[in-house]
Amino acid sequence: MNSKTLVIRNGTVIDPSLGLNGSYDVRVRGGLMEGVYAPGTLPAGDGTEQELEIDACGCIVTPGWIDLHAHLFPERAVLGVEADRVGIRQGVTTLADAGSTGTAYFGRFAEEVIAASRTEVLAWLNIAEQGLCEGRAELADLSRLKVEQTVELVRAEPSIIGIKARMSGSVVKENGIRPLEIAKAAARTANVPVMVHIGNAPPRLGEVLDLLTAGDVVTHAFHGKAGGLFDADGRIIPEGVAALARGVRLDIGHGSASFSFKTMRRALEARIGRYTVSTDIYRQNCEDGPVYSLAVTMSKLLALGIGLDDIIGAATSLPAQIAGRGEQLGTLRTGTIADITIARVKEAETEFVDAEGERLAGTQVIEPEWTIKGGELHRCG
Ligand SMILES: [Zn+2]
Repeated sequence: MNSKTLVIRNGTVIDPSLGLNGSYDVRVRGGLMEGVYAPGTLPAGDGTEQELEIDACGCIVTPGWIDLHAHLFPERAVLGVEADRVGIRQGVTTLADAGSTGTAYFGRFAEEVIAASRTEVLAWLNIAEQGLCEGRAELADLSRLKVEQTVELVRAEPSIIGIKARMSGSVVKENGIRPLEIAKAAARTANVPVMVHIGNAPPRLGEVLDLLTAGDVVTHAFHGKAGGLFDADGRIIPEGVAALARGVRLDIGHGSASFSFKTMRRALEARIGRYTVSTDIYRQNCEDGPVYSLAVTMSKLLALGIGLDDIIGAATSLPAQIAGRGEQLGTLRTGTIADITIARVKEAETEFVDAEGERLAGTQVIEPEWTIKGGELHRCG
């Protein structure tokens, strides 16, 4: 139990869950949020404990960032990266692994990644038992999709927030839409959402969307490939309109090939205002780009003209709700886990690049400076 108290003074607190954007002081006690205080109203400490103070002058202070799509199983699965490297060292207090494993290797994942990381690691369990641990066509053999074992594990493991199905031609091969039907059957029984990766057909995106229900998540929603969410005239396809009306969620999932500025502009023109910002980060795209980090992905949204409050909401309260953790994460509410990100929004002429190679000039970059995870302070970088 962490009994130290921590005071963050002089920052600009942005917390969409509480409707806050302004100057406040923040105090953390025993790993939990004590409160957010208007300037001059911070109650005196009781003097019995050590109090650590951070001057956040010139910084934003937000609920800890949550990245719903990352690849975090470096020892076993293709492409994985070490969780803390893209987590607490980059302002991210909670990461969700997106299908590195299904039931077959989850025990090892729990031991080697969840238990070994200071960043909180959640998981979308791959509907294929081997996940990404035996190559990248995990849905080509339907005998590896085991509904009963999947349901049992989801029920037993609180870190599992839903089921992942990667619905691209290169992953499903001859199986079309069938793997998603199986994933949905398991998710329905276990009462969790599905995160579906979209990419190149088959299956067609319309078919994928028609199977999704409220709370399910479409990741790579704003990719620049053919057959995406928008038709040639820039209108949302009818199945997309219907899915959004049903409460299906959209997630960025940037990745090496799955985020297009052009598509995101279409989404903004279509007034799509609710989406989560996530990275699809893995070893190569965090080292060589175009992803680099969640902060860089958020900075790209700033360069597209999206407001800072909306971006923070897309990295805190919205992903917390999707993960079923809205009561504890993505908020600075009194009594919740003290997960906080302190970041600087620096004025800097910067050129950003999307997954299609399009360049975009920006004037600001978001740079995390401190991460507070469960009341523990970590320096970023
Ligand atoms: Zn991914």
